[in-house]
Amino acid sequence: MSDGEFTLIERLFRGRGGSPTPFTRLGIGDDASIHRPQAGMELVVSSDASLQGIHWPDDFPPDQAADRAVCAALSDLAAMGAEPLCVWLNVMASDRDALDALGRGAVDALRRHDVELAGGDTTRARENALSITVAGQLPNGGAMRRDRAAPDDALWLLGPVGLAAAGLRQWQGGQPAGAFVHNFSRITPRFDAGMQLRAAGVRCCIDISDGLVQDAAHIAHASDLMIEIELSVVPQWQRLEQAFGTDAARDLIAAGGEDYALLFTAPLDLDLPEPELPGGPAAVRIGRCRPGSGVAVTLHDEPVTIREGGFDHFG
Ligand code: ADP
Ligand code: MG
Repeated sequence: MSDGEFTLIERLFRGRGGSPTPFTRLGIGDDASIHRPQAGMELVVSSDASLQGIHWPDDFPPDQAADRAVCAALSDLAAMGAEPLCVWLNVMASDRDALDALGRGAVDALRRHDVELAGGDTTRARENALSITVAGQLPNGGAMRRDRAAPDDALWLLGPVGLAAAGLRQWQGGQPAGAFVHNFSRITPRFDAGMQLRAAGVRCCIDISDGLVQDAAHIAHASDLMIEIELSVVPQWQRLEQAFGTDAARDLIAAGGEDYALLFTAPLDLDLPEPELPGGPAAVRIGRCRPGSGVAVTLHDEPVTIREGGFDHFG
């Protein structure tokens, strides 16, 4: 690596994330980082790519794109019920300004959620992109998994759906100051909620990145059962219906994705914890599991067909 690169890494990344954890014995500066997991805990690891033009519009501010990319990656830890430990960050930037902005956005998100930056790579590329690997921990065997729903579980939603897609629609429609745009720019990874749900005995959870119906279908498929969802009980229903009309609200809520709410199932008699933060979202029951397969969606108890399935890169 050149001196320039070395100075850049020192300036942008070293010591710039959240506070160090005992998990990391050696962080940024050597060929690799070194880690020591705690006894009785499992490591949870996920890796996410985020590309300009695919995951964020070309004209979207790169610092905000990097911030949301880091939060989206961290959300996978929340969905498993893991406590975040550290992140490795690959930044591919088209020029120095883009590198500065991407680096700044990424470390801002890490500092806001106090997650350590343990390493990464920095390269030039034709288009701006990030690749983010996250690690977390949870007690052995305790993870909330997609294949752990039971046929008589209730289906719960914690956090908004449809708002980020509404924000993206406004941004792309030439309304950068639209009322929903901040919901696209700023994602909340729901670690505290995820850990509390796991501790309360929830066994099955997913974070909604592709869309409510598509992510519910992932649970249904992995757990080999059917899921029923009633759209009108989703807390965002009225607001989105008022702003965009019934058809658009239905599509935004069912297929919007990118809000990173937690969708989980739990036995009917399970005592759910209070919301993670005072004033934070409470879990809302939006449906149930049954024997069978697939996802059945209703609006005011009438069956509805969802036009778009959700996001699929190669669909
Ligand atoms: P190597 O050539 O051995 O792969 P690099 O020159 O890529 O090492 O990186 C030097 C150090 O800086 C490494 O410890 C690496 O993890 C860290 N680093 C490089 N880029 C980033 C980044 N974007 N975020 C965090 N750490 C980084
Ligand atoms: Mg090396």
